[in-house]
Amino acid sequence: MEAKKMADLIISNAAELLTCKNSGSDFEVIENGWLAASGERIVAVGGKDQVLPFYEEGLTEVVDATGKVVAPGFIDCHTHLVFGGSRVEEYVAKLTTDDLTVLQKRGIKTGIRASVEATRKATEEELYQSAMGRLGRMAAAGTTTVECKSGYGLATDTELKILAVNKILQDSTPLDIVSTFLGAHGWPADQLKTDYIDLLTREMMPRVAAEKLATYCDIWCDEGYYTAKESELILKTALDHGLQPKIHTDAYSYIGGSDLAAAMKMVSADHLNYTPVAVLKKLADAGVIGVLMPALDFAVKHPQPFDYQAMKEQGLTVALATNICPGCWTESMQFVMALACRLYRMSPAEAMLAATSGAAKALNLDDDYGTLEAGKYADFQVWDVPSYAHVVYRLGGNIVETVYKKGKLIVDNSGRDFAFKGL
Ligand SMILES: [Zn+2]
Repeated sequence: MEAKKMADLIISNAAELLTCKNSGSDFEVIENGWLAASGERIVAVGGKDQVLPFYEEGLTEVVDATGKVVAPGFIDCHTHLVFGGSRVEEYVAKLTTDDLTVLQKRGIKTGIRASVEATRKATEEELYQSAMGRLGRMAAAGTTTVECKSGYGLATDTELKILAVNKILQDSTPLDIVSTFLGAHGWPADQLKTDYIDLLTREMMPRVAAEKLATYCDIWCDEGYYTAKESELILKTALDHGLQPKIHTDAYSYIGGSDLAAAMKMVSADHLNYTPVAVLKKLADAGVIGVLMPALDFAVKHPQPFDYQAMKEQGLTVALATNICPGCWTESMQFVMALACRLYRMSPAEAMLAATSGAAKALNLDDDYGTLEAGKYADFQVWDVPSYAHVVYRLGGNIVETVYKKGKLIVDNSGRDFAFKGL
């Protein structure tokens, strides 16, 4: 028998400890909750009686969480973290006009192609520094694992440069970075789509695979982007190279991308604003996770909200993500959850599950991440609030006091609220 692992860290007496291991209706909240970790892993979760036996004098550090909430670290399962510049002028112009010619007259470049230009110009070091800033603020707001897509290169060297930055972020921060190749985010203005598909499948994918730069391959399947047929060809080629398929689909039209996600049993299908109810059922039956991004829809003032209630009725497991990108710059899963609850009628418990265990499933990481249970990584956060519903109630703030990643303290915000200068 394996010797019992004594804890080097115990979090004691939380007002509420959220394991996030259950489904929406029976969301588990342990009152006066305790958690013990040894090394990178959780060894016990429960009440004092279950956890205190893991205490060892001289070994165990005990952190008192009286009056606070302990929750799994957020998993941000859909981001475009690495990009050059910003699109603040475009965002601001669109606040007061829908007329794109006004932007053109002012010389404001828009959309993915504007970001491609800025990202191509940026050095690897510049991309790393700007992504690090965002990543640090994401961690300070409770995020412990982040999926990062390429897609602002649309040329071999820049796509590889972005994926190389993902790798450096993984190596230089305590967070887990899941890297996704999204060369099929669009195609360059000066190239035929068919020629670019050749470049994607014959040049980029073999290099991404050979250099082990990504786990997933993603595509944008929508009107004006890639067709379902093109997506199938590209993602099947990706699979041949050992890259697992994901898909941006039904964001602005329904052209069969979600059917493809179900047919290929993809790990996730992301956006789903226009997905018919029958296809939501197909996704649920195929075990595909629906990734929802309320902050993107908010930022672009999307005309067609995704239908969370229909997803729920069809039994689709969902995840929430920031979709941080130049068109939707949010670093806060708390903000995303607040929008999901207020605008899409998610309960706070459903939003918590979608931001933790659902998001772990959307990255196929749920064996080790996303819930607080013995055996999983000790990725968790402590909130300075008396009950978890405050996470969707305190709009635009940050309730996170501390964040632990694989058993180590990585963020300490305590005292910040009162740090007035000169008092
Ligand atoms: Zn996206």
